Amino acid sequence: MSFDTIIIGAGPAGMMAAIRAAERNRKVLLIERNNILGRKLLISGNGRCNLTNSCDIEDFLGKFSESRDFLRNTFAKFFNIDLLLFFKDSHIKFKTEQNGCVFPQSDDSSDILDVLKLKLKNKNIKVLLGERVCKIIVRNKKIEGALTYSRKHFAAEHIAITTGGLSYPETGSTGDGYKIARRLGHEIVPLKPALSPIHIKERFIRDWQGISLVDVSLTLFAGNEKIDERSGEMIFTHFGLSGPVVFDISASVYDALKLKKEVTIAINFKPALDHKGLNTILLSEFKKNPGKTIKNTFKNLLPQGVIRQFLGYCDINGDKNTSQITTEERKRLAKGFFDLRLTVKDEMPIKGSIITRGGVNTKEINPKTMESRLMKGVFFAGEVINIDAKTGGYNMQAAFSTGWVCGDNI
Ligand SMILES: Cc1cc2nc3c(=O)[nH]c(=O)nc-3n(C[C@H](O)[C@H](O)[C@H](O)COP(=O)(O)OP(=O)(O)OC[C@H]3O[C@@H](n4cnc5c(N)ncnc54)[C@H](O)[C@@H]3O)c2cc1C
Repeated sequence: MSFDTIIIGAGPAGMMAAIRAAERNRKVLLIERNNILGRKLLISGNGRCNLTNSCDIEDFLGKFSESRDFLRNTFAKFFNIDLLLFFKDSHIKFKTEQNGCVFPQSDDSSDILDVLKLKLKNKNIKVLLGERVCKIIVRNKKIEGALTYSRKHFAAEHIAITTGGLSYPETGSTGDGYKIARRLGHEIVPLKPALSPIHIKERFIRDWQGISLVDVSLTLFAGNEKIDERSGEMIFTHFGLSGPVVFDISASVYDALKLKKEVTIAINFKPALDHKGLNTILLSEFKKNPGKTIKNTFKNLLPQGVIRQFLGYCDINGDKNTSQITTEERKRLAKGFFDLRLTVKDEMPIKGSIITRGGVNTKEINPKTMESRLMKGVFFAGEVINIDAKTGGYNMQAAFSTGWVCGDNI
């Protein structure tokens, strides 16, 4: 079978590239190894899909770890407003939540996927499910087509690699695009986990699973050396820590683990207070509740579920009366509030992270077209490229934007 254009991988980047290319009257084949489209998109944002962010372009670019100049060109052509218009076309309503995160009003990522599917259908794009591309066929330095593992050959002179990264492999992104690109001579910037949960050694925090803290700060240490500090929201899980502030600091944790020193994280439960302020609050709580046990008094200071282990960590008997708390014990409580120290396990698999850092070197891709600078006719879009950002809708927008620019030129 022969097409003008083949797109490998039907995530946000691939679907957008296919739709834009078909708008330009290209005869497009979209090949997806899964039996459904957009599996990762469906689970994104906890099934709600945080598809972009409302901030301006400078703030937006500031959320990317590198490759900002590369993306500046891309966003100049297709940015957050363009993406919302693309979907509003189909009567989807959007809402903007905290920190500019944009979600479909229905809180349902399948609404986004449905629009993409409808556009693929309306534009007569041939979608082939359940076929996994293994290589791009090149003869005399010219692209001839794509070959699948089931030995099917599809001819085209233009091919886009939109196979995603390495995280959440069960969604289909198992790094195939890196292998295909490497065979074409591309450099793959070393792959690392980004936006990762953190595994913790101390077992007592397992009892805190599901408890979230809205405003904490985390300080990272390798041995005694302070490496990084971030503030925000987090949640305890059965293996450790997760949530926005944890994702934020996770890249530094990954690097710190490479130093082969003991890596610890200090949770500060009350980052807005200094020692004096906290002491005043503790004394005032104790004074207000003279006949009460310390564990009951603490209900005003910490989430209910963490109190027992927190007091245990500070070596305080929770059944003790507030009036019996000594100055020494108050100091221990203050230390617990400001520096609850947890030991990081030396495991941070890419498969458990939200994003893969690294990928096809942006220097080898023309940012105005997404075409390979090494092999004419080969294009890239989405997470397979060395682009990664913080949480907040930036990664999805980057996938859609690079996908659109790719489709506009392929
Ligand atoms: C749990 C989770 C939640 C997330 N939530 C958000 C969020 O709310 N907001 C946000 O901005 N970002 C979020 N992200 C990140 C975002 O989902 C990705 O950045 C985005 O999906 C990347 O799009 P992509 O099209 O490049 O790759 P993918 O979405 O990974 O799509 C690649 C596709 O290619 C297919 N494929 C791979 N190899 C082959 C092959 N050889 N042949 C054929 N097909 C192939 C795969 O099956 C897959 O369908 C989240 C990620 C995860 C894991």
